[in-house]
Amino acid sequence: PLYCTVSVNSLLDALAETFEGHPSASTVTLDIAKTDEQLTLLTDPAIVDRILVNMVTNAIEATDPGGAVRVFVERGDNSVSLSVWNRKPIPHDHALRIFKRNFTTKRGLGHGLGTYSMKFFGEKVLGGSVDFTTSDKDGTVFRLTLTQS
Ligand code: ADP
Ligand code: MG
Repeated sequence: PLYCTVSVNSLLDALAETFEGHPSASTVTLDIAKTDEQLTLLTDPAIVDRILVNMVTNAIEATDPGGAVRVFVERGDNSVSLSVWNRKPIPHDHALRIFKRNFTTKRGLGHGLGTYSMKFFGEKVLGGSVDFTTSDKDGTVFRLTLTQS
C-alpha cells in the first residue's frame, strides 16, 4: 500500500464522483453524508476507494428502483468507520457465507469477489476491519473501520 494522510471528506467526494454518471443514478438515490469534523486517515486512498466502490455497488445492486443507498461516517475513540446502508436484509444462510470467495446470488452475473476482496484489503492489507450487520427492521450496513491518524 501507498500510505498518505487523506481527509475522510475527500474520500467521500471521490466516491460521489465515481457514481455521478453511473447508470443507477437515475433510479437509486445515493446519499453521501460528509462529516462536520476535520477527520483524516493515514491510509492508502486508492484501496479505501476500491472498498467503498465495492460496498456501494453491492448496495445499489440490492436496491429496487426508487430506493436509496446511504453512506455515512462514524467516529470511534481512535478509529473512523465508513459505512454503506441499504434497505434489503441479507438472509441468514447467505450472511454466513457472505465473505467467502465466489459466493454470489447474482446467477451468471456476479463473481462473488466484492465482499471477499473488501475484507482482504480492509483487514489484511490496511489493518482495519470490515464487517456488516443486517436485519429485517434496519436493513444492511457494510462498514470499514480504520485506525485514525
Ligand atoms: P457479487 O456482487 O459479484 O455477487 P459480492 O462478493 O460483491 O459478489 O457479494 C456477494 C453476495 O452478497 C451478493 O451476490 C449478494 O447476495 C450479497 N450482498 C453483498 N452486499 C450486499 C448488500 N449491501 N445488500 C444485500 N446483499 C448483499
Ligand atoms: Mg459485488
